[in-house]
Amino acid sequence: MTTTQTDSVATGAHSSRGTGVRIQDLTKTFRAGRRSVTALEDATLFTDKGSFLSLLGPSGCGKSTILRILAGLETPTSGTALVEGKTPLELRRDHELGIAFQDSALLPWRSVLSNIRLPFEVSGRKPDDALVAELIRLVGLEGFEKAKPAQLSGGMRQRVSIARALVVKPSVLLLDEPFGALDDMTRQRLNLELLRIWTEKPATTLMVTHGISEAIFLSDKVAVMSPRPGRVKEVIEVDLPRPRTPEMMRTPEFHALHDHASELLFGGPDPGAEG
Ligand code: ADP
Ligand code: MG
Repeated sequence: MTTTQTDSVATGAHSSRGTGVRIQDLTKTFRAGRRSVTALEDATLFTDKGSFLSLLGPSGCGKSTILRILAGLETPTSGTALVEGKTPLELRRDHELGIAFQDSALLPWRSVLSNIRLPFEVSGRKPDDALVAELIRLVGLEGFEKAKPAQLSGGMRQRVSIARALVVKPSVLLLDEPFGALDDMTRQRLNLELLRIWTEKPATTLMVTHGISEAIFLSDKVAVMSPRPGRVKEVIEVDLPRPRTPEMMRTPEFHALHDHASELLFGGPDPGAEG
C-alpha cells in the first residue's frame, strides 16, 4: 500500500461515503461448479471526484472485474464499491454511468447517430439531439452520422462508443481498454482526443489500460495491481501539470514515473518498451 493511501485512511480523509471512487477491501470469487477463481482480494482504491485514474496490472488480475462491479454487472463477494457515495445499482438507476469497453459493442444494423442515441431509448427518455450533435462533433465524426459500424475504421467505432458513453452526461466514466485493439498511432491520437473530451466534460474516470505511458499521460493517479488475486499494490500520484501535452512525455519527471510503474509491474524496465 502506498504512503498516500495509508495516510488518507489514517487521517480519515476518505470516508466510505465521500465523493469520488471508494473501493474498500473488494473481493470477488467466481465459482463454476467445484472450481473457484479469486479474481480480486481486498482491493482498496480511492480517488477524488472528477479525477482521472488508470488501472494497470498483469492480465487476469481483476481489472475488468473492478469495472464490471462498478458498472453493476457483477456483485462483489465482499467489500464495498461506491462512487460519489452511491452503490453501482444507484449509479445505474440514476443514469450516472458512462461505459466504453474494448469491443465497442455497437449495434451493427444501426447508424452512428442511432447507436449514440441508444442510451436514451434504453432509459425511455427523449433524445437530446443537440447533445448528440455536439458529441458527434467532439469525437470528430461529423459527416458519418448515417454510416453503419461496418463502414467505419476500428478507431472510428471506438469514438462512437465513447460518444455513446458520454451521451448520458455521466458523472462516472468507466473505460476498459477502450483503444486496446487499435494500432499505436491511432491509440495515441485517440488518447489525446480523450484527454480533450475529458477536460471539456470532466467525469470521475476509471480507465483500464496496459500502456504505462498512456496511463501516466492521461491520469491524476495510476493504480498498479498485483497478479491474481488482484490487489492494489500502489497508487502513483501523477503530479504533472495540466493541460498535458505530448512533449511532457519526454521530461525527466515523466520518465521517473514511467520507471517507477515499470518496476512495480515487471520488477524492472518495461520489457515491451513503448519508447
Ligand atoms: P483483467 O481484466 O485484469 O485481465 P479480469 O477481471 O477479466 O482480469 O479477470 C480476472 C480473473 O477472473 C481471471 O482469472 C478470469 O478468468 C476470472 N474471471 C473473470 N470473469 C469471470 C467469470 N464470469 N467467471 C469465472 N471467472 C471469471
Ligand atoms: Mg480485462
